[in-house]
Amino acid sequence: MKIACLAGDGIGPEIMAEARKVLDALALDGVIVEDADVGGAGYHKHGHPLPPATLELAKSADAVLFGAVGDPSCDNLERHLRPEQAILGLRQALTLFANLRPATMFPGLEDLSALRPEVAREIDLLIVRELNGDVYFGEKAIRRLDDGRRQGFDLMSYAEDEVRRIAHVAFRAAQGRGGRLCSVDKANVLETSQLWRDVVVEVSAEYPDVELSHMYVDNAAMQLVRNPGQFDVVVTGNLFGDILSDQASMCVGSIGLLASASLGETQTAYGTKGLYEPIHGSAPDIAGQGKANPLAMILSLAMMLRHSFSLEAEAARIEAAVAKTLADGIKGADLGGSAGTAEIGDAVLARL
Ligand code: ATP
Repeated sequence: MKIACLAGDGIGPEIMAEARKVLDALALDGVIVEDADVGGAGYHKHGHPLPPATLELAKSADAVLFGAVGDPSCDNLERHLRPEQAILGLRQALTLFANLRPATMFPGLEDLSALRPEVAREIDLLIVRELNGDVYFGEKAIRRLDDGRRQGFDLMSYAEDEVRRIAHVAFRAAQGRGGRLCSVDKANVLETSQLWRDVVVEVSAEYPDVELSHMYVDNAAMQLVRNPGQFDVVVTGNLFGDILSDQASMCVGSIGLLASASLGETQTAYGTKGLYEPIHGSAPDIAGQGKANPLAMILSLAMMLRHSFSLEAEAARIEAAVAKTLADGIKGADLGGSAGTAEIGDAVLARL
């Protein structure tokens, strides 16, 4: 089980160190972890945010554990040399098309939510967002019409195979959770959405154990704040997913608690190859101060064990240890507490 460990910039190395402690503590047989530079660290040491050796390691690994990239000293570099390009390059090279973002309310943190505590308490959902298609990647331009007016356009499209593969990821995720899947679209006005809905219904025949429902995106945005507890797994396209996944994050509160997975089509001997990272960035404002909350990174490790190595029991153990740590009141400054990065990591280890 080969893991490419790319800590990156800013708080990346600090939070990755805590995740590594947790991985080591599990003492799994047959795990090989290899480190490589990425982002600003890649640029400063090797002249590129995604150095060839890093890319090769990511390709040969069964999973990529990713910290964060972003380095203010690189702000004036040409676009292709900026740290953020590393993640785009990895997504492309590994054809990662499915973005999974869990949003779960940890008991005791309800007050951090933008929602009322009794509403926030019920949040335990997973958003599965398609990453490679939709209006972001269609034909686009700002052109002149015959009468001289400027017109902007972006072509929204999905091919049926693109919908089918993300639907399979979502149905499988629902099987591993509460068995309910809500597909979000705008089929009342968009043909792209009508095809999306038709294909999701076709795929559902292969998953009789999953209860499928459909919701228009405007209603989904409303339901996410009105009654988020109704959702188990949500699957949607790139544009709607971009918006809804950020909305869901703020429904649970701190950015320092949210993990993500980006999965591709490659099946290894152990599971689905993917890249796992916190949703927050490199937080240069607090880097090197031992203040960063490592829980999103540790939860990303749990997602990696679940999806890339099919180690559900170990993933659940880590998640339970994180929940217990928070319930015991051990919190970083981002959650209104005073615990430092290593202290939080050690607290998770003790509960593991
Ligand atoms: P980048 O450009 O890498 O995205 P950023 O600072 O613009 O960096 P984030 O890194 O997401 O964006 O940080 C946003 C805010 O949240 C910052 O004030 C940061 O300190 C804080 N923050 C982000 N992650 C954490 C964390 N794990 N623990 C504590 N605070 C965090």
